[in-house]
Amino acid sequence: MDSRQTVKILLLGGTSEARSLAAEVHGDPRLDVVSSLAGRVHEPQLPVGSARVGGFGGPAGLTQWLEHECVDVVVDATHPFATSMSSNARESSRATGTPLVRLVRPAWTPSADDRWIRVGSISEAAEAVERLSRRSFLTIGRQNVDAFAWIERTWFLVRSIDPPIGALPPHHEVLLARGPFAEADEIELMRVHRIDTMVTKNSGGAMTDAKLAAARRLGVPVVMIDRPREAGADFTADSVGAVVEWLRGHHVRQG
Ligand code: NAP
Repeated sequence: MDSRQTVKILLLGGTSEARSLAAEVHGDPRLDVVSSLAGRVHEPQLPVGSARVGGFGGPAGLTQWLEHECVDVVVDATHPFATSMSSNARESSRATGTPLVRLVRPAWTPSADDRWIRVGSISEAAEAVERLSRRSFLTIGRQNVDAFAWIERTWFLVRSIDPPIGALPPHHEVLLARGPFAEADEIELMRVHRIDTMVTKNSGGAMTDAKLAAARRLGVPVVMIDRPREAGADFTADSVGAVVEWLRGHHVRQG
């Protein structure tokens, strides 16, 4: 790359942060971004600018893609629980010597009034629910709902954007909805369904945090699934601005 060339960026997305980043750098002649989406949801919210959809075929496929497209930087802005994609990004970046930037939104932290039961995995969450809950609000997305399918004595309100994948618990109702949600509506939903426990991943972000405020207000305990550990990026930030600054700095450094 010389000073006249743009920095070619693969932006691994599927998150609001990735869409914000794509919008922020769109039109910047120094940065040429291709956003990538897994293609899992029925009507994805497409980012501004170029985009591709679908898996790469594991780390080998991604490595090939980076080489073929002459990618200068990989930005992993996937969801904090999209662990396979992040791990593939690390492996392929290392294999090709491509710098890896991680954009990940801050985790939620409990306030004094929150009643969180923190667990380290989906299966631990299921065990906690079976022990503690008779009417549970399951807000973990469409994946992994089958980890709760063995629980017979709890009724579940399962909320996701697209229908859940795999087996469902014997007693449940599915609610298809896409955030953002208002706190008053979340309170009403939990009241109407007499929810005694909520289950969520610690996704962070403002898009879905109204459910935490609602649980706090109602005194409903929250089974909070902690984030998996992360390591291995050349630069990690929790704001779009910091990543944009790093990318523009990279253009200067490499120019
Ligand atoms: P995952 O388990 O980490 O990824 C599974 C496979 O899906 C990957 O190995 C990859 O296939 C493909 N993939 C994932 N993200 C991709 C991307 N941005 N571009 C191209 N291929 C991608 O991921 P997941 O948890 O299923 O999440 C899928 C997408 O939804 C991610 O982009 C993530 O940001 C978004 N999302 C996830 C959650 C969540 O709770 N997990 C919540 C909101 C949004 P190949 O191996 O074939 O390359």
